[in-house]
Amino acid sequence: MNFISTEGKQKEAVPFSEALLYGLAYDGGLYMPISVPRLKDRFWQNINKLSLTDIGFEIARLYLKDEIEDRDLRNIIDDAINFDAPLVPLHDHVHILELFHGPTLAFKDFGARFMARAFAHLHKDKDREIVILAATSGDTGSAVAHGFYKVPGIKVCLLYPSGKVSKLQEQQMTTLGENITALEVDGTFDDCQRMVKDAFSDQKLRDQILLSSANSINIGRLLPQTFYYVYALSQLGIQNKPVFSVPSGNFGNLTAGLIAAEMGMPTEHFIAATNANDVVPKYLQSGEFHPRASVKTISNAMDVGNPSNFDRISYLYHQSLDEIRKHISGYSFTDEETRKCIREVYEKTGYILDPHAAVGYLAGQSWLEHHDVDVPMIVLGTAHPAKFRDVVEPLIGKELELPPQLEAAMQKEKKSTPLDGRYEALRDFLLEDLV
Ligand SMILES: *Cc1c(COP(=O)(O)O)cnc(C)c1O
Repeated sequence: MNFISTEGKQKEAVPFSEALLYGLAYDGGLYMPISVPRLKDRFWQNINKLSLTDIGFEIARLYLKDEIEDRDLRNIIDDAINFDAPLVPLHDHVHILELFHGPTLAFKDFGARFMARAFAHLHKDKDREIVILAATSGDTGSAVAHGFYKVPGIKVCLLYPSGKVSKLQEQQMTTLGENITALEVDGTFDDCQRMVKDAFSDQKLRDQILLSSANSINIGRLLPQTFYYVYALSQLGIQNKPVFSVPSGNFGNLTAGLIAAEMGMPTEHFIAATNANDVVPKYLQSGEFHPRASVKTISNAMDVGNPSNFDRISYLYHQSLDEIRKHISGYSFTDEETRKCIREVYEKTGYILDPHAAVGYLAGQSWLEHHDVDVPMIVLGTAHPAKFRDVVEPLIGKELELPPQLEAAMQKEKKSTPLDGRYEALRDFLLEDLV
């Protein structure tokens, strides 16, 4: 299966290995499969017998069989997805799909771990080492660091703004060591992003170092996110057509669900759940797409003002607003509503939502209020509540226990390299100090 740019100026399709290495197409578009393959009827009939990794293998094979042999692909998936994604019933027909049982306790582990292993496999015969360069404001960095940790042939350099990420996030990025280097930049997240961008446009540097990025637009992160949608359905029972409510920022997660539906997954509808950063819900209402500067909220992994995967959604539905509306509804919520939801769901059910899942839950309830149908609702639980304990603990009136992964990271010694916010400082580090 080859991949094509959403922009359409780059006419030739590229294999997965190339889309994975370059991230963005030459014309600035995002890579999508030339056509979305369908899973066979036999697959759907047997689905309740399949594990999460069985499902992952069957799906990934449709895209990668020309480039990765079955046995290797099976190993990549078993090694990457070595944690569960249980569907937990909440009340009535509402379920939470818990995607936070990986090493960094958020769904980004699926994408980052798969991508890292696919990368290592596809480039194992090349004699040049790959350097992954990424700017992070927190969560992406820890998922990428853990995803690529000890993966041979790859080094990771993460740039993060000093003093501007949470202690927990910083510990998760700076305590791994080995092939992971954390660069603590005296500046803002925007400075970090600018420095990374400058490195990618420095041809002299790129002649010497094979650079790649691991940001959320990479197709290698999107593909494994389809696995858990299908796995959710296998846990629910294939005879049901659920609604998926997806807490969204850059809309990669939702895009993966839409791709799974195009592969034949029975679904009733999708919900784009956002915080005050409501560009997509506004678009669904008015038909006008107006990116804005992001605003800060308590569900901060969704604080995105110009969602990068929107082009993929538009591409999937041939730029037709009517088509998009047929598949997706959008709702947005304030921090106050989100807080109230965490408190009320805890009081009613004993279940502790993190702020992102709470936005998803609220959106699911809104959709149900407007539709007089009796369908299962699956809310994607994108992060473990303990990751956001400062917000959650006062609402539920008790302390949250840190999961072992976080507890261990908190105990380890931080190791970071300070850099000033100039591009030259990054360049010199990459050329002289990265060993
Ligand atoms: C990244 C993230 C999101 C948003 O996902 P997108 O794919 O960018 O829409 C939601 N919740 C959490 C916890 C995240 O880390």
